[in-house]
Order: sequence, then C-alpha cells, then structure tokens
Amino acid sequence: MAPSTQTPPLPLSGKSSAERMFPTLTPAQLARVVAHGHRRPTRRGDILFEAGDAVSPFFVVIAGQVEIVRPSATGEELVAVHGPGQFTGEVNMLSGRRSLLRARVSESGEVSELDRDRLLAIVQTDSEISEILMRAFILRRVELISRGFGDAIVIGSSHCSGTLRVKEFLTRNVHPFTYIDLDRDADVQTLLDRFHVGPADVPVVVCRGEIVLRNPSNQEIAACLGLNVTLDSSLVHDLVVVGAGPAGLAAAVYAASEGLDVVMVEKESPGGQAGSSSKIENYLGFPTGISGQALSGRAFAQAQKFGAHVLIAKDAAGLGCEHRPYSIEIGEPLPLRARCVVIASGAEYRKPELKNLSHFEGVGVYYAATFMEAQLCVDDEVVVIGGGNSAGQAAVFLAQTAKRVHILVRSGGLAKTMSRYLVRRIEEHPKVELHPFTEVCALEGETRLERLRWRNSRTGETESRSIRHVFILAGAIAATQWLNGCLALDEKDFLKTGADLSQDELAREKWPLARAPYLLETSRPGVFAVGDVRAGNVKRVASAVGEGSIAVSFVHRVLAE
Ligand SMILES: Cc1cc2nc3c(=O)[nH]c(=O)nc-3n(C[C@H](O)[C@H](O)[C@H](O)COP(=O)(O)OP(=O)(O)OC[C@H]3O[C@@H](n4cnc5c(N)ncnc54)[C@H](O)[C@@H]3O)c2cc1C
Repeated sequence: MAPSTQTPPLPLSGKSSAERMFPTLTPAQLARVVAHGHRRPTRRGDILFEAGDAVSPFFVVIAGQVEIVRPSATGEELVAVHGPGQFTGEVNMLSGRRSLLRARVSESGEVSELDRDRLLAIVQTDSEISEILMRAFILRRVELISRGFGDAIVIGSSHCSGTLRVKEFLTRNVHPFTYIDLDRDADVQTLLDRFHVGPADVPVVVCRGEIVLRNPSNQEIAACLGLNVTLDSSLVHDLVVVGAGPAGLAAAVYAASEGLDVVMVEKESPGGQAGSSSKIENYLGFPTGISGQALSGRAFAQAQKFGAHVLIAKDAAGLGCEHRPYSIEIGEPLPLRARCVVIASGAEYRKPELKNLSHFEGVGVYYAATFMEAQLCVDDEVVVIGGGNSAGQAAVFLAQTAKRVHILVRSGGLAKTMSRYLVRRIEEHPKVELHPFTEVCALEGETRLERLRWRNSRTGETESRSIRHVFILAGAIAATQWLNGCLALDEKDFLKTGADLSQDELAREKWPLARAPYLLETSRPGVFAVGDVRAGNVKRVASAVGEGSIAVSFVHRVLAE
C-alpha cells in the first residue's frame, strides 16, 4: 500500500497556479531585490543549498538556471526550475527553519544572494515585492504538503493515541509529512517487528530520513525537525508573548510590525483553541467562515514576516516577576528575559471526572473537532459534550460526515449558552439529537473507546451505547497554573487587569508605581494579560485579537517609562 499524504487545510485561499507559485520579477522589481543582496557568478553543478541545511539563503536568478530537487533514497525528484527573475525559497525563509529541498545550478550564470535578515527587510518595507514573495512562499509550502515532500514520515495506527497527537502537531505547524498507516500496511508492520519496534513505540517518526524517533514527544519532534530558531540567551527582549492563540498571535504581529524585538512561546502549536475549530463564522471579514487552522496559519506567517521569533512546543513553566527584566522559564538552561510580557495562555477544556478518560484520549476521546478528527468517525455515531458555541459548531460540522451526533448537556437546553444561529441549525438538523440533563458516566473499551454509558440526572436512568467517539467541548479553565502565584487572579483563576484590580490587591501585590495599571495590565508593571486567560474577557476570537493588539500600544508606553 502506498503511503498516504496528509493535506491539511490550506493556509491561503485562492487558486494555485504556476505563475503565482513561480512568478518572474519585472526588471524593476529584480533591481530592487538585487540592490539588497550580493551578486555571485554560478557554475553548472554548484549546490546553492542542501536539503536539511539549518540556514539557507534566498537566491534570485539574474542569469542562467537553478533547479530545485527533492533528494530521496532512490534519487532525486525535480520540483521546479528557476530562470532569470525567479527566486528560491518557501515558508522556511520566513520561519528560519531547515530547508526541505536542494538547489543546484543547472545552467551557469549569476545569482543575487540574500540572508534571511535582508530578505525580511525587503518583505517588511517593499509591499509590492512582499506580496509576490509571501504568496509564492505559502503556495509552495502548500504544494510541498500536498505532494508529501516533507522531511518527516509518520508510521502510526488509529488504535494508538499518540498518532493523532503527532499528526495534529505537524499539521498545525504546517509541516509536510507522509503518513503510513500500520493498520493497512502489513509489510511495514513486519519491518517494525524485525527492528523490535513494539506497540508502545508507535507512532514512529522518521526525521529527515536519518533519525528514527519512537513515540516521540512534540518537543522531540520540534527539535529533530529544527522547528525552532536558536536565540541568544544573553539578550533582553522587548517583549515575550506566552501563547500563540489568536490573542498572542495578534500581539506578536502588532509588536513585531511596530519594530519591537518579540519572542512568542507556544507549548503546542500556533492557533490555540481557535485552531481546533472547523469553521469560525462570526469573525469579521469572513462572510463564508474560515477554519481555525487557516486563520492561525495566516497569522503565524504574518508574525514571522515581521520578524517575530516563535518557539514551538516550548512550555512557559514559570514567570520570575520579582525583578525586572522579567524572566520566563522555558525548560532551557537559561530563561528568556524580557522588559514586558504579554500573557496569552488562554484556557483549556475542563475534563470530566471519568475514571479512564486519559486511557481513551486520542483513541475515542477528543478535545477538538477538525477535519482530522472528522475523518476518524465517518458514518459512526458520535457524542459531543457541551452546550457552548464550540460544542454547537462541532456538532454541526461532524454531522456532515457522521451517522448521528448526540449533544449531551447538563442543563435543560442550549438557548442560554449558544448563539441563536447554531441553536437553529442543531434543531433543524436531521442527524443531530439533543440530550438535556445528560452526562457521560462511564467509558468502556480495551485499546480504544468501544462503548459509553450516559445518565439522565432528572430520571436517574442510565443507558449504554456502542459509541466510539466522544468530543469534550465543555467549560473552560484558565491556563494560569504556570504563573505560580506571581500575579493577582480572580476566584476562578483568571488574570485580573487594569481597573478590575482593587487598591487592596495592588497593595498586597506590592504594585510599585505611582500610576494605576493600564488597561490589560496585570498586578505587575509591564506584564499584560489578553484573551481568554483574562478575567472578564468575552471568549471570542475577535476580542482576543483586539486585546492582543491593544496591549501592544501599552507595551510601548511601559518601554518608554
Ligand atoms: C472548537 C472551538 C470553536 C470556537 N469557535 C469560535 C467561533 O466561531 N467564534 C469565536 O469568536 N470564538 C470561537 N471560539 C473561542 C475562541 O477560539 C477563543 O476565544 C480564542 O481562541 C481565545 O484566544 P486566546 O489566544 O486568548 O487563547 P487560546 O486560543 O486558548 O490560546 C492559548 C494558547 O496558549 C498556549 N499556552 C497555554 N499555556 C501555555 C504555556 N504555559 N506556555 C506556552 N504556551 C501556552 C496554548 O497551547 C494555546 O495555543 C471557539 C473555541 C473552540 C475551542
């Protein structure tokens, strides 16, 4: 069986065409790019960069030809040929990640070479060239993903929870990979047996064709694929943003575009909760809706375009808030240091107290309803737990492919907790059934979820159903545990900011300044909280994005103090 290629939702809408993916700069545009680079003659056979190179410069062809190939165990595959006025590179040029392809001169001539900083300078200052390059880079990355031209192979099984985690991690980081399904490919299973790769080692990730990782953590995958740039630990950054959901991404985009030195730390992948949404329909400017992944993919590219440094799969594990600059522990020998901090660590779904919940996570229990999870339950019955908009969206989305969707809510209905448009869709959908006053009370199965029981709290009756998929989208808790009591929280552990901080609280927290905290500023000067993690936030993508951008204007004021 041939390996299947994963095609995550495109980060950019619109048709891909050869001209958009491989444009030719006009003589005037070419001259502007060449002015930033250094010209060098090329000879047929010269390698300009190699697949796996940690740093690959950007080349624009002045004369001659450069071919882009994908090296593999069996030879090379031609990806593109660039002639005069055309240029190398894809999204890795913005992110500073390893090159996935090899560039070789196929016809002698001349190129102009630019390092990443010079390229970013053009992208930030020349809007015409920026648009051409950004579009080409993103379309090229999408093409690499659709052709499976990545440097990662995932060998997994739908019976193993780690497989979904790893596939989601790579997909949300827009990293191309090839997936080999052990349940369908007996030959690969035999091969793994021969190398003593047991069930506990699955999924296996083959990284850059060299390194074999057995059931790796996201951190190990990020390190192996070189997803993060190395930062100079002696630097004090203007701003560290914790969390790359909509609020953190907005803060990073605005801060970097306004010239601040920004580092964003994300413990999983960019997108946050919004990244787990199949379709956001109420975000301004997207009348037909946009998937959370498409929205965050664009914002991620935008943050990188303006020069924000993004650290993926890095958990902020503590905030040193006694002294300034502040320090943020990220599991490295030295912490990050920053003059200002924006906390955008959001919220996570509350897990119901079910005995064997963690045993079924990824193999029947899910906390997101995207294309990837939907594929796992085609023509099956599913349960969605929750009465909020995220649960409603998930139910309507899953009903497109599932046999039947049961929504379980503890209360008597949806009217008080869900937007009217979703309530109507649910009421009118022939495949969606609402179960008020109902909670799951048991999960059953061996290697994966096979059955569950639910209980009606009014009648006390329990019912057993052969349902293999449960989506938990109910009740959020603030991601503030990592702060270790550094900042003032409300009674539900959300961060208090601005005028919500009383004089007593400020005195208790030893607020040191004559001025009161700014809007969105926490009980420490220069530390801001935005989005779902903030007490009083309305839990919407638009408000998260708005707060992320507003906080940056106050960051400037604090830096000037
Ligand atoms: C399925 C679903 C559908 C939704 N649909 C809609 C909709 O249609 N319209 C709408 O307006 N809103 C919708 N929402 C709500 C919306 O997504 C949230 O309000 C929004 O994502 C909040 O953004 P945020 O950046 O504040 O937090 P989050 O999105 O929660 O992002 C926080 C980020 O911080 C990271 N993080 C947490 N702790 C740490 C740490 N210690 N170190 C590093 N990183 C950390 C997390 O991994 C996460 O990526 C939906 C939510 C869900 C779950």
